[in-house]
This record gives sequence, structure tokens and C-alpha cells, in this order.
Amino acid sequence: MSVFDHSEFDQHESLHYFHDDASGLRAIIAIHSTALGPAAGGCRHWQYANDDAALTDVLRLARGMTYKNAVAGLRFGGGKSVILANDAKSKSVELFRAFGRAVDSLGGRYVTAEDVGCSVADMRHVNMETNFVSGLPQDGEGAGGDPSPMTALGVFLGMQSAVKFRLGADSVRGLRIAVQGVGSVGLNLCRLLHEAGATLIVADVNNDNLQMACDELPLTAISPVELLSSDVDVLAPCALGNILSSQTIPELKAKVIAGAANNQLATEADGARLADMDILYAPDYVINAGGIINVAHEYFGDSSAAHVRADVEKIPVRLDSIFAEAQTTSRPTNIIADELARKIVSAGAANRAVVDSATTLQPA
Ligand code: NAD
Repeated sequence: MSVFDHSEFDQHESLHYFHDDASGLRAIIAIHSTALGPAAGGCRHWQYANDDAALTDVLRLARGMTYKNAVAGLRFGGGKSVILANDAKSKSVELFRAFGRAVDSLGGRYVTAEDVGCSVADMRHVNMETNFVSGLPQDGEGAGGDPSPMTALGVFLGMQSAVKFRLGADSVRGLRIAVQGVGSVGLNLCRLLHEAGATLIVADVNNDNLQMACDELPLTAISPVELLSSDVDVLAPCALGNILSSQTIPELKAKVIAGAANNQLATEADGARLADMDILYAPDYVINAGGIINVAHEYFGDSSAAHVRADVEKIPVRLDSIFAEAQTTSRPTNIIADELARKIVSAGAANRAVVDSATTLQPA
């Protein structure tokens, strides 16, 4: 099947396959749009069921990054990369150096950073071969490095907006919140929620991560299967995508969905399913933009922590207006967000002559 006929192909600008025998690298980089700037989005190191699953993931994630970066007001287009892992332990310095050469060969059309399965150390190895990488440790107090804490902060602030809108609650204090996945973002989110007085129920398929979270915080750990249908006020998906579907949505008891995972909805129609059940869905790429905001500040040379935080604090404001429009027009929040993103990208594309100067921006 041609990629042009793939169900997730959506006018992506380009798709690049890379192979390096010596390091074992097999990677795909998808550039969805450079209308607003270089295509930016993290690198996922994951063991896929098959190559088509990897292609599906990278196509969806790249489009999501275009929308995320547009709504967050960043000078970035959207792209994403996946490294097809043999197993969770197949990472090596050589693998990430080979990936860095792959990124470099695109001449700055794609900028990478950490995503699921990748660490700051991995990005340092990428940086040995290319400057088109962000999420690197900064000196002193500057923002930069691991984007997860800022992603978690944005989700926390966005969740506060969502519970105010849907439940009339002034804070998360006393609310029961289920967090799916206590990895980099999920654990940081749990810390913020615990500090704010929420009761936390968590699940993770990785026992080491789960144990680490339970050792640090008072959490109730349950099985991943039970978590989605648990009796909670808020569900925070912080693992992988496609978890809100025609199968899972009827079982949900949460009234608010607010989490970090990308591509939470299995299909666009699942946004309407949630709305029909009066469940308020905070569009994933709007609420989880804190990390890429951090990445953008670092990449363009303004890594003032105060500036990053000020931009992350705009996330709840954007969500408030999406929630309000969804209510006024009786339409699902994901549709309102998608329309907004497409409008911003179209305006950028129309302005291409001006924007071209941004696409050639180099890392600071
Ligand atoms: P991570 O790999 O550090 O953590 C993910 C956790 O989810 C892991 O502990 C994993 O074991 C767990 N998990 C996987 N499948 C699960 C399941 N079915 N049930 C329960 N737990 C499961 O990744 P992360 O960086 O924390 O990212 C989490 C999600 O947020 C991803 O979808 C990622 O794309 C998205 N995201 C991350 C960032 C960031 O700054 N890291 C930014 C935006 C979006």
C-alpha cells in the first residue's frame, strides 16, 4: 500500500526512512508541516508490533505536533520520529548518534527532542552529530533539558481549568484522580496533584516505575485494566495513545479527561462520544504543550525559566476558550481545537514568504 493511501496520511510534507547497519538503527521521521517553522517533535523509542504500526504512529504524532505547536503559538511546524526498537534495552550511544546523523541530513527541516523511551542522555548523544536537537541540559537556572516537568505543569494547570468548568471545583483538592502511566510526566503530575490535595489512583505496566511512584507518594495502585473504569472525578492518561475508543468510553466514570498522552482519542468521533456522555475532554495537544514550549524556548535561545513558565500558564487560558466555544456551539472540544489549529496553520502557510525566514532559523 502506498503511504499516500494510508488512513493516517494527511498531507504530510515528507516522510523519511533511515537504516544504519552498524548501530542497528531503523527509524522513520515524518514531517507534517513546516508552514510555521521547522517541524519539531520528539523522538519515540518503542518496540512496535510491526512496521505499519510504527508508520501509523509517526504519521499521527507528526500531525498532532503541527496542531500542538500552532495552538501554543510557537515558531515550529510539526514533525515526529520513531526509532523501531528490538527490545527496551536496545538503546546505545551509537544508535542515537546514527539517529543524530539522520536528523542532520534533513538540514534543519526537523528538530528532535525526547519522547517516550528517550532520555536527556540520549539527546546528548544525538547532539554529538547534529544541532537540530533540543531538550539538552542547560547551565544554571535556565529551562531546558527534560521537558516532562513543564508538560506536567501544563497538564496540572489545564486540569484545574477543566474541573472548574465541568465540576465547578475551585481546585483539585479532595478530588479522586486516576493517572494512567507514572513515567516521566505521570510521576511529575502526581507530585503536583498530591501537593494540591488530590487523592491519587495510578496504574503502570512497568513495575519499576510503579514501585518508584508508590515509594515516594501516597498512591493507590490498581491494575491498568481496572484504571480506566475506576470511580474517579478525573482521568489523566499519561501513557500511550488510542485509549479513548468506542470500547473504553462507555466504561468511563470520570467526568473530566485531562492528561499528557498524545493521540488519546482513537478516532475523531470519540470526541463526540465523550461529549455525548457529558465528559469534558481537554484536547491532548493543547493541555500537553508545556514540554514543547520548554523545548522551543531552549532551541531559540531563551531558556529563562520565568519566560517558559509564563508561556505554560497560557495553556489553561486556551483551554477555557475551547471549553466555552464547545459549550456555546454544542460541539466536541477536539473539533474546536482542530479547527483552531488548522486556521493558524493556514494563516501561516498563506504568509509563507514571511514565515520562510523562521524556517531557516538555526538553533541558538
Ligand atoms: P514515559 O515513557 O516516561 O512514561 C510512560 C509510562 O506509561 C511508562 O511508565 C509506561 O510503563 C506506562 N505505560 C505504558 N502503557 C501503559 C498502560 N497501558 N497502562 C499503564 N501504564 C502504561 O513517557 P512520558 O514522557 O511520561 O510520556 C507519557 C505520554 O505523554 C506519552 O504519550 C507522550 O507522548 C506524552 N507527552 C510527553 C511529553 C514529555 O514532555 N515527556 C510531552 C507531551 C506529551
